[in-house]
Amino acid sequence: FKALEKALNRIPNYTGVQNSRISEFFAENVFDIKKMKQYLSEDAYESVIQAIDEGIKIDRKISDQVASGMKTWAIERGATHYTHWFQPLTGETAEKHDSFFKLSGDGSALEVFSGSNLVQQEPDASSFPSGGIRNTFEARGYTAWDPSSPAFIVENTLCIPTIFVSYTGEALDYKTPLLRSISNIDKTATEVCKYFDKNVTKVHTTLGCEQEYFLVDVALYQVRPDLILSGRTLMGHTSAKDQQLEDHYFGSIPERVLNYMKDFETECYKLGIPVITRHNEVAPNQFECAPMFEETNIAVDHNQLLMDIMKKVAHRHNFEVLLHEKPYKGVNGSGKHNNWSLRTNTGKNLLSSGKTPKTNLQFLTFLINIVKAVHDHADLLRASISSAGNEHRLGANEAPPAIISIFLGAQLNAILNEIESRVTDTKMKTEDKTELKLDIGRIPEILLDNTDRNRTSPFAFTGNRFEFRAVGSSANVSAPMLTLNTVVANQLNLFKKEVDELVETKGLKTDEAILKVLRKYIIDSKKIRYEGNGYSDDWKEEALKRGLTNVTEAVDSFKAFISESTIALFEENNVLTKRELEARYEIKLETFVKKIQIESRVFGDLATNHIIPIAIRYQNLLIENIKGLKECFPNDWESFAKTQLENIKEISLHISSVQRMVDEMIEARKKANREDHIEEKASIYSKEVKPYLENIRYHIDKLELIVDDEIWPLPKYRELLFVR
Ligand code: ADP
Ligand code: MG
Repeated sequence: FKALEKALNRIPNYTGVQNSRISEFFAENVFDIKKMKQYLSEDAYESVIQAIDEGIKIDRKISDQVASGMKTWAIERGATHYTHWFQPLTGETAEKHDSFFKLSGDGSALEVFSGSNLVQQEPDASSFPSGGIRNTFEARGYTAWDPSSPAFIVENTLCIPTIFVSYTGEALDYKTPLLRSISNIDKTATEVCKYFDKNVTKVHTTLGCEQEYFLVDVALYQVRPDLILSGRTLMGHTSAKDQQLEDHYFGSIPERVLNYMKDFETECYKLGIPVITRHNEVAPNQFECAPMFEETNIAVDHNQLLMDIMKKVAHRHNFEVLLHEKPYKGVNGSGKHNNWSLRTNTGKNLLSSGKTPKTNLQFLTFLINIVKAVHDHADLLRASISSAGNEHRLGANEAPPAIISIFLGAQLNAILNEIESRVTDTKMKTEDKTELKLDIGRIPEILLDNTDRNRTSPFAFTGNRFEFRAVGSSANVSAPMLTLNTVVANQLNLFKKEVDELVETKGLKTDEAILKVLRKYIIDSKKIRYEGNGYSDDWKEEALKRGLTNVTEAVDSFKAFISESTIALFEENNVLTKRELEARYEIKLETFVKKIQIESRVFGDLATNHIIPIAIRYQNLLIENIKGLKECFPNDWESFAKTQLENIKEISLHISSVQRMVDEMIEARKKANREDHIEEKASIYSKEVKPYLENIRYHIDKLELIVDDEIWPLPKYRELLFVR
């Protein structure tokens, strides 16, 4: 095990963390408001602020001034290049660097960066997934500056966050619809807030992502082609010890890992990413980091950047980061809890209860509308977090099931029940009103400490925010966030209409109208509320009875992207058009197909080129051994060779099973690849190719137990999970 030896003898080339206070270098590589004030003219500064706060367009002349200020700052900090930084539908980020440096007519060198360089670029975009939107003859795509997310410098390159659209204006990225959804929820939530507080003029959503990940020594990683190519181990017998002693979660962080964390956190701070929490996770070699929450657009950009930084910095420490949702069978996978809330320009978190009945009614209004929105669009939310990787995690008794439900906690449930029983369809009795007002007024501020932590719910209320827990660790969280924003914005809009109508036609007071509509929502969305153990089989049965869906296969879940209700929802709210949704649906299916195809190919190769030859080699050793025994003990050799004979037979059985199934798997792939229709193709990959991965693995994992450890070609789980 040369690789292992190398790993253990190596001195990590860790160079040390900055010792100065974080506040001294926080955001030093970000062109934030402070730097804008310093480097921009007053007009330019005001213009950018207006663009950030009110979405007002920046005119060309001003953008030249912004570019000039940005360039001065960037060059002072050593930048030589700039790039538009965007988030295509691959889920990763994309960048193409251009130099500031230009040669002028007389041959002299100068640095140039104009307003048009800043505002728009035309990358040849034909190599990004477009789901058929951009035909190859129209390969142009446009990136356009998003002033609401500040530019930053990574390794001498000025990165400008941008959206990415096709020549015909369709979104080819995650940011475009996310920004649309953010502006929608601002409008509708502000309108609803006005019932309670006229001072509210703006609402934004807040997001804090808890990022889970695994670390593995780079030397071990490099001899696992499955990890390199597919991000997860396709074979490997469980380690005798993994997480059963529950000794890893919150355990003391190993020194080498801690050095890595400090190093990537430092890089994060320089880029203004406020990472504040770090700890060991449940599985061995699994960890988590979480930032302080931020406005959603920024939080999404920061999470994308964070994942990138984590990968890069890991190499300095001879680690590889695994962001896959399920790198190892049998131990916990990784998720990314999306903590989400709404915040007003007056600084109020709309999901934290207040001190007065009025603020509490506001709190309940938002809470219940969110419950209703999630209830009405559960399948779409499920689709938004669906992927080949996350499929291993959801419902695997470690992560929430594929059934979308909401946990609210006993106290809130009691209050919702109270509203349900006291509010009536007809005019409310005065004593009921008083009683209810008292109840609502009593929603204690201690709610935050009191919410029992139900870890098994995919969508849980945690005192002052919702936590969407079903999101996968490698996901670009724009997808679930733009979906959540949109379903909630849409719902708030409906709510406002209903309340206003009651006030106008029935002459009800606003508070009473609000309570009546909320009561209706409470009743209509009851089936999505669940307080019990989401991992249990009982829940699956009960959910079925309640009429909730349990879509376990990713391929099936994607269908919600193009359902009638989804198309109506996204079109009415101007977030995505039917065509854009169909494109996204197609891309989801294509990505799924490619992922399974890659897994299946690398697995087939490993089985035939690594595993079977080694198994045969060991079998030959046994055969040689038996021949020797025969020579030494011509009469009773058989009694000495019992184990060897059994192993020889067993190896043969496993080898032939592996080979047969690899051949069948290849045939299944061929069948799928002959399909032109992507839905059909994805369905064959899911139903006919994918099962082979598990079935072949069974035999290989058995062989791992028989074959001499000395010649087994791949690092085992006990090494991958425990070498630090
Ligand atoms: P836990 O593991 O208990 O859920 P963590 O501290 O790991 O808690 O993560 C909680 C996350 O929730 C943090 O990123 C935090 O900033 C975020 N958060 C807290 N309040 C809000 C809020 N109002 N809106 C969005 N995110 C929030
Ligand atoms: Mg959490």
